[in-house]
Amino acid sequence: MAFHPSDFEHPLDRSARQNLESIPLLRPAVEKYLKHFDERAVRNWQMSDMLRLGPRQYPRIYRLLPPICEAYGIEEPELYLMAGPVNAMTMGHARPSITLYSGLVESMQDDEIQAVLAHECGHIVGEHVLLLQMARVINTASGYNLFTKVLSFPLHRALMAWMRMSELSADRAAAAFMGSGEEMTRTMLRIVGIPSYALPSDYSLELFAEQAVEAETLRESRWDRLLEQHYLPQSTHPLVSARVLELKKWVDTEAFRRLSAIALSARTASRCETCGHHVEASWKFCHKCGRRLGAEELGAVRA
Ligand SMILES: [Zn+2]
Ligand SMILES: [Zn+2]
Repeated sequence: MAFHPSDFEHPLDRSARQNLESIPLLRPAVEKYLKHFDERAVRNWQMSDMLRLGPRQYPRIYRLLPPICEAYGIEEPELYLMAGPVNAMTMGHARPSITLYSGLVESMQDDEIQAVLAHECGHIVGEHVLLLQMARVINTASGYNLFTKVLSFPLHRALMAWMRMSELSADRAAAAFMGSGEEMTRTMLRIVGIPSYALPSDYSLELFAEQAVEAETLRESRWDRLLEQHYLPQSTHPLVSARVLELKKWVDTEAFRRLSAIALSARTASRCETCGHHVEASWKFCHKCGRRLGAEELGAVRA
């Protein structure tokens, strides 16, 4: 059992994928380009300028990743840490990697960081890095001169719109892994500025969701929607309020319940406390990191 893009894709994300997949030879050509150019350059950058996390390198964060990969049925991507804002990114296709910025690690609690990792892994399952590059090729090819540039403007807008939809799909995957939309919604609070030291009594997720509903009503008139398009044409991410509302809708669906059930076994499996990898009752040492398994892990396995 694993996650498949069609299980959690937002409908608009799916139609963009189908359009791109229908262009002959585009996929293999872009796969080759990513493998030989982009991914190589990115890896050099990551290995030289970032910290690669693992069982012996900041395992407190790294151990959050293996259960997600197990639930989604994907190979473990490399995980890097670098200085920066409250953000994270996924790069690469044949060899995907996730980069967490220090601002995100500082401002989020462990379950929120895991929700972000599940969101990034959602991009990997959805092949969003590849699809984005395919869309960029089309976008660039149609913008060679002024005439085609004017013609391609709607295409550019469509590309930006698809990028926003792919974010909603990744949010859906993350909520399904976590078994609720709460952790992902809390990450939105961190993105807007609630610090990690704020107590749960300092903020209200319910009021935040109500604010999202109120924000939606501001978009009811055609004029407001036009204003929004004017001020947010280049945004790659949907508005925070839209993400909160979409999560609220998603957790009421049958697809969410089905995926959550798949993820539940991965989330509750017995794991090495250091590296987060699955452990068996007969093991004395973790096969991944070599840690001698303690009574807690073995007790959990035998229970
Ligand atoms: Zn994303
Ligand atoms: Zn281990």
